Amino acid sequence: MHLVKVLVEMPALALDQEFDYLSVKEIPPRVRVNILFNRRNVIGYVTKVEKTDLTKGELEARLGYRLSYIKNVIDESPLLNEELETIAFNLARQSFSSKIACIQTMLPKQLKPATVQAVGKKYQLYLSVSAKLPERLTKRQQEGYEFVRDKGKVKLTDFPYSKAIVDKLIALELLVKTREEIYREAMAVKLEGIPAPELNPDQAKIVKAIMLKKDTSFTALIHGVTGSGKTEVYLSLAAATIKSGRQVIMLVPEIALTPMMVKAFKNRFGDTVAVIHSRLSSGQRYDEYRRISNQEVDIVVGARSAIFAPLANVGLIVMDEEHDSSYKQDAKSPRYGTLNVAKMRSRFHGCPLVLGSATPSLESYARAKNGVYDLYELTNRINGRDLPHITMVDMKKELKNQNYSIFSQLLKDKIQATIAKGQQVILLLNKRGYATAIQCLECGHVIKCPHCDVSLTYHKDQNKLKCHYCDYQVDFTGRCPDCHSPALKLTGEGTQKVAELIEAEFEGAKVLRFDVDSTRNKDGHQKILEQFENKEANILLGTQMIAKGLDFKDVTLVGVLNGDAALNLPDFRANERCFVLLEQVSGRAGRDSLEGEVIIQSYDIDHPVYKALLNHDYHQFFVQEMRIRKMANYPPFVHLASVLVTSKSEKNAATQSQLIANYLKKTSGLEVLGPAPSLIHRIEDHYRYWIMVKFKDSKVIYPCLQNVVAKYLNDRFVQVVVDFNPYNQI
Ligand code: ADP
Ligand code: ZN
Ligand code: ZN
Repeated sequence: MHLVKVLVEMPALALDQEFDYLSVKEIPPRVRVNILFNRRNVIGYVTKVEKTDLTKGELEARLGYRLSYIKNVIDESPLLNEELETIAFNLARQSFSSKIACIQTMLPKQLKPATVQAVGKKYQLYLSVSAKLPERLTKRQQEGYEFVRDKGKVKLTDFPYSKAIVDKLIALELLVKTREEIYREAMAVKLEGIPAPELNPDQAKIVKAIMLKKDTSFTALIHGVTGSGKTEVYLSLAAATIKSGRQVIMLVPEIALTPMMVKAFKNRFGDTVAVIHSRLSSGQRYDEYRRISNQEVDIVVGARSAIFAPLANVGLIVMDEEHDSSYKQDAKSPRYGTLNVAKMRSRFHGCPLVLGSATPSLESYARAKNGVYDLYELTNRINGRDLPHITMVDMKKELKNQNYSIFSQLLKDKIQATIAKGQQVILLLNKRGYATAIQCLECGHVIKCPHCDVSLTYHKDQNKLKCHYCDYQVDFTGRCPDCHSPALKLTGEGTQKVAELIEAEFEGAKVLRFDVDSTRNKDGHQKILEQFENKEANILLGTQMIAKGLDFKDVTLVGVLNGDAALNLPDFRANERCFVLLEQVSGRAGRDSLEGEVIIQSYDIDHPVYKALLNHDYHQFFVQEMRIRKMANYPPFVHLASVLVTSKSEKNAATQSQLIANYLKKTSGLEVLGPAPSLIHRIEDHYRYWIMVKFKDSKVIYPCLQNVVAKYLNDRFVQVVVDFNPYNQI
């Protein structure tokens, strides 16, 4: 008899618990099973299996409760290996989430504990010849037979003769039909067979130093300006790692925006590269996952979730653009940081973790400066060019000169001149939709979301008003919902409106829009980028997603329409976000032989962030920003945890958040800010209050927050969400 511990997720308790079941047969641990739980059929996850000589009756007598048998084992082999199971359980503990939720995060949809396999394996039919020798065939049959014999093995679909001939040859037992499993290809790329360039001395030094310590766990930070050859360093490290018989995890933020990295790796390493990201079809995802867990690949390239790739012998982990906030999962449980998981894996495998960025997070750069990470700098661009020159335009002056347009005179002239030369322009406007606010000129009413405290955005292409915080949308009638006046004022130009303005304003302008709305379909990103690459348009207008990883050789002008947008957020990272965004978007200009330039429009041109930006001087920015962080006591000088309290009742949210803050304030070693109403006080009919806790020692805060979470776990009226190292304060 086997006593089996099964993890069951119970919505009522929110957190998971283990229960005992019986099995006569031996079953492996870490598989899913069907069980009866409270007279319901549920799926559980086996954590432990113990063989015993006792009978069912004896076991029940000893444990003091009735035991039932496992009904059915779902998986043939363990879903996770031991390493990943340990990480899942650690994450659950650290982020106050359920173990099942953590396991789910690690698996493709088809394998999640709560679902039964929906997508099947895909097969291909093949023909081959048998040992039997042919006699008395017709001419066509003989040809068909020889065709297969000469090729050895032929896909059924590639067989150039009729079905009657195939059937006959099979009936005669001359040909055999076999069914083989195939994998759906994820992100097919045209292989160009580009040979690896010889590394320059700076690059070579980094590769050598890291590979010298390849069998130990440590973190290295490569700070290199855009185009300084970081990717080439990753490729070279990967090649050396594979050569030593180990595997590589290559992480990028939001892979849909950076197909370049996949292309570079597939070009260099061919079929041994697997790709994981959220836009793969579920079939592709499932297949890539199985190729990885069968250890059929050497390299996994992917976004955040690829850190959980079930590779057994990891020798290198790379996080490109390590500063990017999409490495943090904060929208749902478990709220985890990829860096934290990457460090656990690096320790387990005894291998390097390499972080790279042109604009490292302050936390990472400070650690590198303190010697916690090995620091490497790449200060020159490979093509020997300087970074593009930046000009700031004072929009207050434009107003004084009676230019009320969203374009300054300088930017207008430059755009016109650039497209006249047949070159391309990238414009950044961090606001999507057509108009972000609509006000009635008759009664003053501003049209708001009925469920959130935000104004609705007008989307002209669908003639709808949409909320950007929940799913609410409504047809636009052209009249005030309050007084029915048609005198409406649209303000806050978004990308849709500006795209219209551009085509009206500039001769020969052809605009492509690159934002969440225009890229919603599968492959939407790639399609737009290909059109731009093929020069079907000369202006690419987009939100911040335009700043990442794009590489077009004919882009010589980058314009930022609202430079201050990021600066004005009530967030201690506002300066950092602004610097990163503008430095990254600047890097899109003049990447090839043509020189590029950047124009930033601002109402606050003397802001210190712009001073550092004008020189492309990360170090200057780092020093001045560290001074501010130290004075205000923010990371990297302390750690942060946020506690978000939400409720349908404003009063409940207010009082409970006050109680929580009072409780935390009693603990020494914690600095508690708030509670305060969130920037957007109500989202999806829930009022939001927010507490920020600063701490140095997680041993102090941890039990406190655990008590808080436990207290509200079963509360039907108030929800509490804790987030360590939060990125968003809304
Ligand atoms: P980054 O990742 O820092 O932006 P990349 O690695 O993409 O920079 O390098 C920029 C360009 O320079 C790419 O086209 C790359 O192929 C090329 N490159 C990088 N290293 C070398 C080298 N050692 N010799 C020649 N070309 C190189
Ligand atoms: Zn809403
Ligand atoms: Zn009105």
